Amino acid sequence: MYEALHGIPESETFVTHLECGYTGERYDADRLHNLSNAGKPLLVRYDLGAVRAALTRDALAQRAPTMWRYRELLPVRSTANIVTLGETMTPVLGCPTVERSLGASGLLVKDEGRLPTGSFKARGLVMAVSMAKELGVKRMAMPTNGNAGAALAAYCRRAGLEAYVFCPADTPEVNVREIALQGAKVWRVNGYIDDCGKIVGGGTAEMGWFDTSTLKEPYRIEGKKTMGLELAEQLGWRVPDVILYPTGGGTGLIGMWKAFDELEKIGLIGSKRPRMVAVQATGCAPMVRAWEAGEEHATRWEDAQTIAMGIRVPQAVGDFLILRAVRESGGFAIAVDDAAIEAAQTEMAREEGLLLCPEGAATYAAYKAALLDGRIRKDEEAVLFNCATGLKYPMPPAQQAIDRMQPIDYTAMKRA
Ligand SMILES: *Cc1c(COP(=O)(O)O)cnc(C)c1O
Repeated sequence: MYEALHGIPESETFVTHLECGYTGERYDADRLHNLSNAGKPLLVRYDLGAVRAALTRDALAQRAPTMWRYRELLPVRSTANIVTLGETMTPVLGCPTVERSLGASGLLVKDEGRLPTGSFKARGLVMAVSMAKELGVKRMAMPTNGNAGAALAAYCRRAGLEAYVFCPADTPEVNVREIALQGAKVWRVNGYIDDCGKIVGGGTAEMGWFDTSTLKEPYRIEGKKTMGLELAEQLGWRVPDVILYPTGGGTGLIGMWKAFDELEKIGLIGSKRPRMVAVQATGCAPMVRAWEAGEEHATRWEDAQTIAMGIRVPQAVGDFLILRAVRESGGFAIAVDDAAIEAAQTEMAREEGLLLCPEGAATYAAYKAALLDGRIRKDEEAVLFNCATGLKYPMPPAQQAIDRMQPIDYTAMKRA
């Protein structure tokens, strides 16, 4: 069972149509789409009655441990168009040491850093690129804070497509370099991710590229949805009490909410839902502001600033879908500052041996804050999403050295 597509059926697919996430207007499947006529994200709909008969627990038992095991709930028509780099199921890890110090139980981390290109952006982009290949796209473009561009670059090369990528000038160096090394054309732009998005949108006519901006194409949500499918399966076909999700464009939060709905309709889980918690940084918290004000849409966050680049998204086109999922689930939106993010990252690394990315660490900081203010109880099962490997981010220096020509001072080592 080591091949990514082992046991995955060839072509049985169940997409019926696409639907505007805001107005519900129907769109045909099997052709290229960006936003709906209302300027809102499109959602993919399936014949769930037929999926129910095909995607059974027995069928799943025969399939490779990759996101493609949920084939019938995914949009690619022909398995030949799947451009996999091995999208493995990611582990759900307990945190016994920090639980003990917090007096809590049920804290879990889903470690998405194990995916190709080191982040959960792989789930979304493998789907977007596979669908682009299926629908005849030759050239893709996107704005990115780093990880999405890296995944786009990798999968586009795998599929033989061209990729054009635009990132804010202060995007982490490692991201810009991996994008370039993986064969994409990449530019730094003196602005935020939504400013980069305008360059993509403005170039569509002249460059003939497909705009792959977050939620401006329908299939990244379907890829990110697999986090919810996988989590429910890993927990024995049930959901946790709370999910804390580092929210930028919100693709994963929206996707998981959709996943749970589909899983209930095909009879694999019941009606219980986790409370969905959108975690943002105090320096860029448009969803928190809108959630607190009771608004349906969020206004742009000016002068956004945080070390957690993946959630430095001033404005999200799927804002109403994020806020809707948070509200319907009885969850909340919460912001944590950079100092709390750094402290959370250090604590998890030192105590649990888990090197979280800053965005993942933000969810742990939010969990601790919510324990304190009572919004999460200590005995509740809470899942944190560590969305990327901590290895892609700057780390504090470590400078101790030994001169092997001098006598070795072992006693001093004990004090180090
Ligand atoms: C993209 C990204 C996020 C935000 O994910 P969305 O689903 O777009 O909200 C969080 N953390 C990291 C590391 C990311 O790359």
